[in-house]
Amino acid sequence: MSDPTFIYTIEEIGTGIHELRLEGTLNEDVNLGEVAASVISLKEHLQSLSIDLSQIRMINSCGIREWILFLEDMATVTKVQFSRVGKLFVEQASTVPNVLGKPGTHVYSIELPYYCTKCDAASNIFLETSKIPLVNGQPKAPQKKCHRCGEALEIDAFEEEYLSFLKYMKAKK
Ligand SMILES: [Zn+2]
Repeated sequence: MSDPTFIYTIEEIGTGIHELRLEGTLNEDVNLGEVAASVISLKEHLQSLSIDLSQIRMINSCGIREWILFLEDMATVTKVQFSRVGKLFVEQASTVPNVLGKPGTHVYSIELPYYCTKCDAASNIFLETSKIPLVNGQPKAPQKKCHRCGEALEIDAFEEEYLSFLKYMKAKK
């Protein structure tokens, strides 16, 4: 039986480019073998796979282990990149960089947790990684303003650690 807390969809978003969207909980109950089989069944119609991890709401270590094996499997089948990476995966990537594939795997955008101290409100924003510059070798989150009060937002994370995987991503293949 499939786990109702985990959903995946595959959609062709350009010629040969398929987007895999994962949603929900990634743990030991998730059958990533089934996801892999669906991707592999695209055969010659598959030129590259773009993965959207923005809707993953819970992960555990078993799920992460399975996920890394899945990615290794996918790397033998097609070119893999990530379109949107949510906060949970960004946090994992700072300690286990290969949750986002081998070094140099392209990550288009990531979720950044911003916070307005004046409104006492969090706002998570997806930002293109190309707009996160390296300053003295350290990735630096761009300044954002609160859409309600206009105050400068703070990063609600240890920025250096949170963004450290970007150095790995920008490393040579
Ligand atoms: Zn505000």
